[in-house]
Amino acid sequence: MNKILITLITAFLYILFSSWGFYAHKKINESAVFLLPTELAIFYKKNIKEITNKAIDADKRCYTDSLEPPRHYIDINEIDDNIDSIPVHWRKATEKYTERKLIAAGIIPWQISRTYQNLVQAFKIKDRNKIIRYSADLGHYIADSHVPLHTTSNYNGQQTNQIGIHAFWETRLPEMFAKHYNLFIGTASYVNKPLEAAWEIVRKSNTMVDSVLTLEKELSQTFRPSDIKAYIERNNQLILMYSDAYATAYHDVLNGMVERRFRSSVHAVSSYWYSAWIDAGQPKLNSLDSTNGLENEIEAKEGIKSLGRQEWH
Ligand SMILES: [Zn+2]
Repeated sequence: MNKILITLITAFLYILFSSWGFYAHKKINESAVFLLPTELAIFYKKNIKEITNKAIDADKRCYTDSLEPPRHYIDINEIDDNIDSIPVHWRKATEKYTERKLIAAGIIPWQISRTYQNLVQAFKIKDRNKIIRYSADLGHYIADSHVPLHTTSNYNGQQTNQIGIHAFWETRLPEMFAKHYNLFIGTASYVNKPLEAAWEIVRKSNTMVDSVLTLEKELSQTFRPSDIKAYIERNNQLILMYSDAYATAYHDVLNGMVERRFRSSVHAVSSYWYSAWIDAGQPKLNSLDSTNGLENEIEAKEGIKSLGRQEWH
């Protein structure tokens, strides 16, 4: 009985906080390093293990910090019937809906912007540890914003009798299929307006909510209920999960959606890192070692002019 209870609790927490799944988050941060221009890639490659491992720190904080969970999603339908009616800027949005309502619904686009600004500052003061921490966190939030079910209050299909679909889409499918995803994604590009770009990502994710739910609902009607889920071994435990056959069929009817969102995440993560470095004035990072940052050496100055859409190839 205890074992069943522990398994249930583990599965519940996993579903609740495992956005994109640990595997996918790590893979997205790791892959993003290879889209960076050489000068920046040297630093990121040197620290790739840490940036990869810390890709899931933001999810871990959900266990200990009550302010953390709303940073990972935004339930658009809880805020407004029309996503385009929501003011892009935090202050204007709070004036329209109140801060309390927004925090209850989730704040991911603003969190991306805030973490971006933190990363810019970390680059300016050349603080190696902060650059790594904010890069990893920014990668996490950007990846989460690409997941359609992170933009709706029906995030786990609980309103449509599809409980479990959250981890199904973002954890089970990438774990099964990401090894076949095409990771030749080009190169990072400069993000002109990080907050607006974050909203653009959220808007696109939100357009896919209906397909994610409807396609699974339709598919479930073509399978015998006993074939939809199966006991699969995970960490020496048997957990009732969507069967391999059902997962394959769902991945097929989604017609590449998960791969496209995965690839788009990698490109966006790399582009935001690159842009933060540009906005910080392209600091030289080769002298940063693993023990100390050079905090305070360079005073963080507001308003360093962006160099704009710099291409390096
Ligand atoms: Zn998350």
